Amino acid sequence: MNSAQDQNPTLSDELEVQSPQIDCDVLIVGAGPAGLFLVFELGLLGIRAHVVDALPHAGGQAVELFGDKLIYDIPGTLACTGRELTQRLLQQCKPFAPQFHLGELVQTIESDGDHFKIETDACTRFKTRAVGIASGVGAFLHRPLVANGLTPFLRKQINNGPFSSVKAQLQTTLSANPAHVWVVGGTQEAVNDALDVYEWGKTLEHQKLEVTLIHRRETLDANETSTKALQAAIHHSANNPGPCHLRFVHGQILHAHASPKDPSTLERVEWVDDQGVTQQSHCEAILVDLGLSPQLGPISSWGLEMQKKQLPVNQEDYRTAFPGIFAIGDIITYPGKKKLIVSGFHEATLAAYGIAKRVLNKEKIPFEYTTASALLQSRLGIKETNLEPKTH
Ligand SMILES: Cc1cc2nc3c(=O)[nH]c(=O)nc-3n(C[C@H](O)[C@H](O)[C@H](O)COP(=O)(O)OP(=O)(O)OC[C@H]3O[C@@H](n4cnc5c(N)ncnc54)[C@H](O)[C@@H]3O)c2cc1C
Repeated sequence: MNSAQDQNPTLSDELEVQSPQIDCDVLIVGAGPAGLFLVFELGLLGIRAHVVDALPHAGGQAVELFGDKLIYDIPGTLACTGRELTQRLLQQCKPFAPQFHLGELVQTIESDGDHFKIETDACTRFKTRAVGIASGVGAFLHRPLVANGLTPFLRKQINNGPFSSVKAQLQTTLSANPAHVWVVGGTQEAVNDALDVYEWGKTLEHQKLEVTLIHRRETLDANETSTKALQAAIHHSANNPGPCHLRFVHGQILHAHASPKDPSTLERVEWVDDQGVTQQSHCEAILVDLGLSPQLGPISSWGLEMQKKQLPVNQEDYRTAFPGIFAIGDIITYPGKKKLIVSGFHEATLAAYGIAKRVLNKEKIPFEYTTASALLQSRLGIKETNLEPKTH
């Protein structure tokens, strides 16, 4: 953990100007099942939370890895998909109006002993009394394209999908006519992006577009509807002269090359086809759609004690060794820990009490049942009356 005093004051001052700071009681890192249930349990205790997740949606592994598969071991639920579970958790924590910051990776956490200063890769800055780490198996980050010569073009002519998020930028990079856009990957997103770029290309005036979907294997990991749509579009574009063409090649990009006139402009790629033959092709833009994979990410640099890439905790309230930082879910370790959603729910319940003691400055947090407590029911919005205690 870095101390605020270690920071270069000039740099901090600059950041102060760049992005306003969000003051909150609790910041939760991770909107997987554990993080979402922590929002709910904190809400019952009268505490609102901000939640940051690197993914553009809530749900963590439950959406990313088994969104449409059935889970059978959620108490009181015979079966539900990962996506359904996430929707129910979001619905359940709605009365507590969590503020989500999605598509942002928590990069740094600093402490002055009383508060934490946290910053994301999107430069969102928080000042918070407590941190709930629910970062699971890590942040889901884009699998990178591995090839030579990419660096000068990254986030310029080479971007991660989806196409919708880089469309405006792509338009400015089409330096040639016809322009050549390569979509890399065999994922559902890759197929969607190839089709989207193709459809977009058909609408451009005075600009021809050649779209290439490149994947290492012949088979695509996309659903039947999209695969058929791709085949139809390739067939149509091959048989109809028009401003935009779409093709699918099996192979791998080996090297990106700049224009000899301008080293910052991508001009062509060297790629190897399925016969092992190296080819040279025009290329002015690349969209990378190789899927997401969980990576431990910056947590390993936050100065927290880790055992085999996991955080040891005190099972009384799931506090870590660093005062004010609590951790739950798949990221933690303790004797007998099971990486199950139900374990994360139990851990969230006890962590909420630990966090509440710190945030509300109380030695003891009253324990109440939702069935019987008028206060909890008023917090849930079931009772009209506001029964909040006047002071914490
Ligand atoms: C294929 C599969 C099937 C499974 N089936 C079951 C089952 O049937 N029943 C069951 O109980 N469990 C099952 N599990 C386990 C279950 O998915 C996990 O126990 C559960 O998802 C853990 O929840 P979590 O909230 O701790 O972490 P996660 O679900 O991993 O969520 C963590 C979130 O934190 C985010 N994050 C991490 N670091 C950062 C950062 N620095 N900044 C911003 N965001 C960050 C990640 O993007 C992620 O969204 C299964 C797991 C897999 C892989």
